[in-house]
Amino acid sequence: MPERVLATMQEVGRDLYLLGLVSSHGGNLSVREGTGMWITGTGTMLGRLRERHIAYVRADGTASGPPPSSDTVLHATIYAMTGAGAVVHAHPRHAIALSFGTDRFVPMDFEGLHFLKAVPVVDQGPNQVAQVAAALQEAVVVMLRGHGAYARGATLWEALHWVTALEESAQVAWLAGR
Ligand SMILES: [Zn+2]
Repeated sequence: MPERVLATMQEVGRDLYLLGLVSSHGGNLSVREGTGMWITGTGTMLGRLRERHIAYVRADGTASGPPPSSDTVLHATIYAMTGAGAVVHAHPRHAIALSFGTDRFVPMDFEGLHFLKAVPVVDQGPNQVAQVAAALQEAVVVMLRGHGAYARGATLWEALHWVTALEESAQVAWLAGR
């Protein structure tokens, strides 16, 4: 795989783990490449990614490398429905806690409101793939209730920005008692 893609996935994965936005084996990352995507393997450790942990999935669904993430269909649907170049899935703790009580999280802090505006919360269930991808046509980050966040970006760095901004805003809201 291209060195630039590997290096970015390693750095963003490491940041997500060190920031406590995923557990040791949680979350996943992908980068669009041509008509396919590079995506982390199922059950891989985002903080310790090596080339052998990253699969290439083609447009027809065939894959090279390790078994790709169980979220591969969702990532492919997001690429099909948005102009995204990269997708990050993480488990930001305060955002998950807040997702139980709302259908739409509106940050109360300045930066969160500026960058995220409003974050849709989608229910888990048989329609979650289509619902998350559709919500990401407007929003840059979406919560799957009780599970985690899906962010899209032109690059992984941009998607990381949205996940970290979401968790910062969610923690502020939690501390403020909202
Ligand atoms: Zn997850």
